[in-house]
Amino acid sequence: MTLREPPGERGEALEQAIEEAARLIAASRHVVALVGAGLSAESGVPTFRGPEGLWTKHGEPDLRDYERFVEDPKRWWEMRRDRANRLGELVQALETAVPNPGHLALRDMEEMGRLKHIITQNIDNLHQLAGSQAITEIHGNRTKLRCVLCNQRWPVEGFLLDELPPKCPDCTAGIVKGDTVMFGEPIPRDALDDCINQSQMCDCMLLVGTSAVVYPAAQFPVDVKSAGGSLIEVNPNETPLTGLCDVVLRGPAGETLPLVVEKLRAAR
Ligand SMILES: [Zn+2]
Repeated sequence: MTLREPPGERGEALEQAIEEAARLIAASRHVVALVGAGLSAESGVPTFRGPEGLWTKHGEPDLRDYERFVEDPKRWWEMRRDRANRLGELVQALETAVPNPGHLALRDMEEMGRLKHIITQNIDNLHQLAGSQAITEIHGNRTKLRCVLCNQRWPVEGFLLDELPPKCPDCTAGIVKGDTVMFGEPIPRDALDDCINQSQMCDCMLLVGTSAVVYPAAQFPVDVKSAGGSLIEVNPNETPLTGLCDVVLRGPAGETLPLVVEKLRAAR
């Protein structure tokens, strides 16, 4: 059901689900949002899977990506520019994307003290642009660089690249790469620890635009649920987690989440 459908039985069901979601959020101690590609897609960021996905159009990713980086980081840095040219369409879509009403609703919930943390699988920096503060990027951030050894991060812009591969200016031992997590690369330890801590504190998790089939993200909602927490799905499509969810908002986050924020405001 989506909000575009005429009012009636289904519209009432969605209205009820929105009220129930707001009630659960208001009654919870530590609400965390687990966000996936669906939210970015609402901002025009291309997804990887599906008929219009980048993997479908440009071929499957190189699963040895990280292995190749480790073997020859200098060559990886030299190829970084070529790859940016080859994926020009993606880079442009990422650079022109702006936060949508779903991102803004999550920021509003944080400002109201209702949302404690965002765990995002997206790398597009849109939560930061929306003004959210407490964010863990499980797959990194395309606008940052990271030391593979100490996990220090810097904005790409302004980072001095006089020698390739660049050495970490902080620990001076590690090599610096793009912060985006590559295929075959372990999730950075600090990000993974944050996610585990947040999931343990969480008593209500919003699953926004994520099919939650990719580990480790797929495990977090399962852990929250088995510890007695509640799950709210915000997704136009059914997912493997739908059956576990206490409330399902079946529509785009940009349409449903602002309505939840309205309810939360009205209840104050
Ligand atoms: Zn370092």
